Amino acid sequence: MATKLGKIDLKNYNLDGFEFEELISEKRIQKRVEEIGSEISKDFENKIPIIIGVLNGSFLFMADLVRNINIDYEVDFIKISSYGNSTKSSGTVRLVKDISADITGRDLIIVEDIVDTGLSIEFLFNRLQEAKPNSISFVTCLKKPTKVDVDHLVNYVGFNIEDSFVIGYGLDLAQKFRGLSSIYNLTPKKDIE
Ligand code: 5GP
Repeated sequence: MATKLGKIDLKNYNLDGFEFEELISEKRIQKRVEEIGSEISKDFENKIPIIIGVLNGSFLFMADLVRNINIDYEVDFIKISSYGNSTKSSGTVRLVKDISADITGRDLIIVEDIVDTGLSIEFLFNRLQEAKPNSISFVTCLKKPTKVDVDHLVNYVGFNIEDSFVIGYGLDLAQKFRGLSSIYNLTPKKDIE
């Protein structure tokens, strides 16, 4: 029998010995995004923050989040890379595409898909700080227990999750599955070494 994953039919994919399990449903995600959007709207009232999406993973979360924010804001994007096509962080963060906005003196809200080791957030904070913005806040859809202590930098967390590889809602497996509306745990199939 074909297994359905959101709107994707898994039988069309070579899953390389992995299987998926729903971790956070679309409904729970949307409810939480609404709550975070209200919090941000309140916290940044009378300011015009620049909301910076960290590509590629944050694109769905960012799109949903800004539609739940009811104050004025601007939008920009930055792209960094630490995973390549692997399911483990390489430990080195690389800037792939810089922001274009002038951020000096501005309030920045950086939107991440997931905080894992914490290295990306640490890298982004250090880099953006050089331009002397007024403030830097981080919002992440998901957070794992981090190796680097970045808790003081992360202001808004959608869901704290355990340390396992997840996909969907922007998060990929070798660039696939980003469009899924829910979040899934990816685990190696038991019968495969
Ligand atoms: P960090 O630098 O905190 O270790 O990792 C941040 C980046 O690694 C995320 O923005 C995301 O692109 C990627 N990443 C970390 N954990 C996962 C995961 O469970 N699934 C996927 N698809 N990407 C992840």
